[in-house]
Amino acid sequence: MVPSLPAGGFAGVTASSRRPLGTERAGDGALHLTWGRLLSEDWAMRISDVLRAKGQQVVTVSPDTVVSQLLAVLAEHGIGAVVVSREGVTVDGIVSERDIVRALAKRGAAILSEPVSAIHTADVVTVTPEASLEDVERLMTTRRFRHVPVVVNGALSGLVSIGDVVKERIDELETERSTLAGYITGERV
Ligand code: AMP
Repeated sequence: MVPSLPAGGFAGVTASSRRPLGTERAGDGALHLTWGRLLSEDWAMRISDVLRAKGQQVVTVSPDTVVSQLLAVLAEHGIGAVVVSREGVTVDGIVSERDIVRALAKRGAAILSEPVSAIHTADVVTVTPEASLEDVERLMTTRRFRHVPVVVNGALSGLVSIGDVVKERIDELETERSTLAGYITGERV
């Protein structure tokens, strides 16, 4: 038996919709999906879910690290940005490949021997572990950056990249898709 869809069909399912889907039997015995639960904020994936999977370690450099050393750190760890921090706890800035490229284009190779503080972004946007994945995705898109440090009570507790967000969202959508397919084909009730 094919479960009935809500009046708005799938259009009513926003990006914040979350598993698990529930089902209930109507008086006539028909199976209905319980969309209310799907739309509940309670099921939103959070940054804490991402950190649970990837860990909380963050590569940091001090503000006086020279840019050539920064290049070595980025290459060694295979990453695109590091948090700038004097003692590895507070966030004093963030510096990404993009800052290096811009500074090189503007001022040439001389920047390689300058401190990171000369090219970093000091006004850092951070999030807490409770932030929803969807909100952080939107934040990265509208502000046009690909990295967001996670901070708890002023202390650095993780870093999320656009790659982490996209991976988590793909996993999430795949689970949602297979759950829905299971209900529709009758393999799940
Ligand atoms: P990205 O896309 O992360 O490589 O960064 C693009 C630009 O945004 C660079 O100038 C970074 O220093 C800056 N940036 C990266 N992440 C953040 C952040 N969370 N808050 C503020 N600026 C950032």
